[in-house]
Amino acid sequence: MSYLPRPGLSEFDYVKPASLPDASRLLAERAGEARPFMGGTDLFVRIRDGFIRPQTMVDVKHLPGMRGIVFDEQAGLTVGAATTMNEIAQHPAVQAHYPLLAEAAGSVATYQLRNRATLGGNLCNGSPAADTAPAALVLEGRFVLYGLAGEREVPAVDFFLGPGKTAMQAGELMTAVRFQPPRTGGAGKYLKLGRSKAGDLSIVGVAVVGFPDGATSSGYTFRIALASVAPVPLRALEAEEVLAARPLGEETLALAAEKTMEAATPIDDVRASAVYRKAMVRALTLRGLQGVWAELAGQEE
Ligand SMILES: Cc1cc2nc3c(=O)[nH]c(=O)nc-3n(C[C@H](O)[C@H](O)[C@H](O)COP(=O)(O)OP(=O)(O)OC[C@H]3O[C@@H](n4cnc5c(N)ncnc54)[C@H](O)[C@@H]3O)c2cc1C
Repeated sequence: MSYLPRPGLSEFDYVKPASLPDASRLLAERAGEARPFMGGTDLFVRIRDGFIRPQTMVDVKHLPGMRGIVFDEQAGLTVGAATTMNEIAQHPAVQAHYPLLAEAAGSVATYQLRNRATLGGNLCNGSPAADTAPAALVLEGRFVLYGLAGEREVPAVDFFLGPGKTAMQAGELMTAVRFQPPRTGGAGKYLKLGRSKAGDLSIVGVAVVGFPDGATSSGYTFRIALASVAPVPLRALEAEEVLAARPLGEETLALAAEKTMEAATPIDDVRASAVYRKAMVRALTLRGLQGVWAELAGQEE
């Protein structure tokens, strides 16, 4: 008889492959019973709670190219998949050029957890609540995947397929995320509503970026993405179209916030009701848009 309140960790083999090809081969050969892991903050909790029972745990965080942040004004930003949330949130180039990504990484859980939790783990988990997913969507990140056929890049928008489901195939690993060079004169914000500020998954997460764009009628392009309000993290494309087409001001921002709310299809769960989530999507989006618009307008003066 077990006295543990939860099932506890099941037994598994720990494997630390020497190279990406070895890791990929192993994961493909043992598809269904082997799992890659990095920080383990998602995976070990799910094993402890009895949701999954992998027989082989494949540690991949030490593999080449997995760790670190490289910024170049022409090439943009590359973040290794095993880079921790604290490393991202505190990195000077991320703070200076991709503040939205720094905010999103800094909003995950607690300081202690952010020392282990990685960007790749957050994205590969396929959770609709992943805080870095809306940032990756609005910054149009490209996910670098390594598999038996070599390397490929998947745009963030094509990666999330459903709760716990991603575009990764058997034997594939995420090795890095690439971001375009920052837009001149752009601004961005990540707003997260959780049950407590002391580290919790979001009830609603809203990422907003905006930048001057001579190709749109309004003179600006905005991108909006949401967490925790649909089966996948998603872009609010209709709202983005409103902001591209109409003269910018309070009325347009309010209409875009309304359209963003309409894009959300949340469920009731332990964190909040669907009705509350919808209302919070509108409120947070409006606040995010106002903040970004104020920065953009300020830069013009
Ligand atoms: C108390 C607590 C609070 C939390 N709060 C938040 C929060 O506020 N916001 C939030 O977004 N998340 C939160 N989380 C979830 C979790 O911490 C994050 O998602 C974290 O970023 C996961 O990273 P990891 O490296 O620990 O992933 P892991 O647990 O190592 O892996 C997560 C998933 O990704 C897969 N995986 C790992 N590495 C790779 C790879 N290289 N290639 C392919 N697949 C891979 C694993 O098989 C697994 O399915 C919380 C978790 C806990 C326990």
